[in-house]
Amino acid sequence: MLSSIKGKLIAWLFLTFSLLFGAVAVYLSHEIKEIITSSVDDHLYSQIGLLKELLSEDDEISEAEIGKHSLPLSGHYYQISTLDGDIIVRSPSLAIVDARLPIVKADDTPRLTEITGPGKNRLRVLSQRFNTEKGIVIIQAAETLEEPYALIGEFRGTLLILFPMTFIISVAGIIIITGKALSRLDSFSEDVGDITEKHLDRRLEESGLEIELVPLATAFNGMMDRLESSFERQGQFLSDASHDLRTPTSVIKTHCDIILKKEREPEDYIEALQKIRKSSERMSDIIARILEVARLDSKGFCLEMSDFDVLAIIGDAVNMLEPKAKERDIKITVRGESLIISADREKIFEALTDLIKNAIKYNKDGGTVDVLMNNNEKELNISVSDSGIGIAEEEHTKIFHRFYRTDTSRGITEGAGLGLSIIKAIVEAHGGRIGLKSSPGEGSCFTITLPLSS
Ligand code: ADP
Repeated sequence: MLSSIKGKLIAWLFLTFSLLFGAVAVYLSHEIKEIITSSVDDHLYSQIGLLKELLSEDDEISEAEIGKHSLPLSGHYYQISTLDGDIIVRSPSLAIVDARLPIVKADDTPRLTEITGPGKNRLRVLSQRFNTEKGIVIIQAAETLEEPYALIGEFRGTLLILFPMTFIISVAGIIIITGKALSRLDSFSEDVGDITEKHLDRRLEESGLEIELVPLATAFNGMMDRLESSFERQGQFLSDASHDLRTPTSVIKTHCDIILKKEREPEDYIEALQKIRKSSERMSDIIARILEVARLDSKGFCLEMSDFDVLAIIGDAVNMLEPKAKERDIKITVRGESLIISADREKIFEALTDLIKNAIKYNKDGGTVDVLMNNNEKELNISVSDSGIGIAEEEHTKIFHRFYRTDTSRGITEGAGLGLSIIKAIVEAHGGRIGLKSSPGEGSCFTITLPLSS
C-alpha cells in the first residue's frame, strides 16, 4: 500500500491526525480537569472557613446542614473530629448512613487530598487543624469528583467519535482528489501508448489539466515536437539523398545504353567513359557527404584538438583550390596574420575549403574571392567574400538546411546542398557561429567566428 501515492498520503494523514488528536485530547483533558478542580477547591476553602466560624457559635452549625449536605451520600460532605479520630459533628449526608471521612493527619496549613470516600466515590478533601475553645479539631470538607471526571470522559468520548469521522472524511477527500489526478496519468499512459511512428503528430491535451501535471504534458509535447521534426528531417533526408543520387545514376545508365547500342569508334568510348567518370565522381562526393551527415546525426562531432596556425591552413586551402579558380580567371586574396589556435585541424580545414570552394563556384568569371582573418582577445573572425551571384535575404537561413539549394545556383553548377550544413555543424561544435551578408548580384560574405581560449 505504501508504494502508491494514495497509500502514502493516507498513512501520513493517519499519523498526523493521531498525533494532533492525541495532543489535543491530552492538553484539553488536563486543562478541563484543572479548571474544575480549582473551582472545587475554592468551594472547599469557603466551606472550611464557614465551618470554622459556625463551630465557634456552637448551636448554629446546623446552618451548614442544608442543600446537598443534607442528602445521604450526596458526595458533598463535611466532618469535624478530634485528633484521636472521634467525630464531633458531620454532615447529614454522612450521618444518615453512618459513614465517615477517613481522617487525614492535617496541620495548621490546609491540605488537599484525593481519596475514595463513602459509596466508592472519588472525593477531593480539604483538611485543616484548628485550635478552638473545644480543643484541637480537624475540620474536613469534601466534594465528589465524579461529575468532573464524567465530564472529562464525555469530552474524550466526543473526541473518539470526531477523530474517526474527520479521518474518514479526509481519506475520502484524498481518494477522490488523487483518484482524479491519477486518472489523468492513466489517460496520459493510454494516449502515449497509442502513439506510433505513424501518429507522431498526436499531443497530450494541456488545457484543463491540474497545474502539477502541466509541466509533464508540456515536456512530453516538446519531446514529441522534436521527435516529429527529427523523423520528418530523416524522411526528407532520405528522399533528397535518393533524388540527388538518381541524376548521376541515370546519366551513367543513359551513356551505357547509348554506347552499347552499336559498335563505336574508340574516341566515342573514351568520351562516354569520361562522362561516366564525372557522374560517378559526383555520386561519390554526394555519398561521402551523406555519410558525413549521417555520422554527425548519430554521434555528433568527435573533435580531435590540436594547436595549429589558421593562416597556414587557409593558405593550404587556397593553394588546393587555386587551379579551379584560375580556370575561370578568379583571383583569390588572403589577408591576416599568423595565429595559433586550438581546434580540430582537419574539420576547420574542411569548413574553410568548402567556403572558399563555394565562393569560386557561385562567382562570375574573372571575379574575386577575399579571405580576411582578424581577431581580438576573445574571438577569431574569418570572412570569405566573393563577387558572385549573391543570395536573397529570405534564403539566408534556408541555405544552411540540408539539401537546400537556391534556384539561381541550380542552373549554374551542380551541388548536393550539404556543404553549408556541415560547415555550420563544424563551427558550432567548436562553440562558434557562422554569419552571412549577401544580396542578389552583389556577392556574398560568409563569416566564421570562433572563440579563442586563453
Ligand atoms: P552546394 O554548394 O553543394 O549546393 P552548399 O550547402 O554548400 O551546397 O550550399 C547550399 C546553397 O547555398 C547552394 O546551393 C547555393 O545556392 C547557396 N550558396 C552557398 N554558397 C554561396 C555563395 N558563395 N554564393 C551564392 N550562393 C551560395
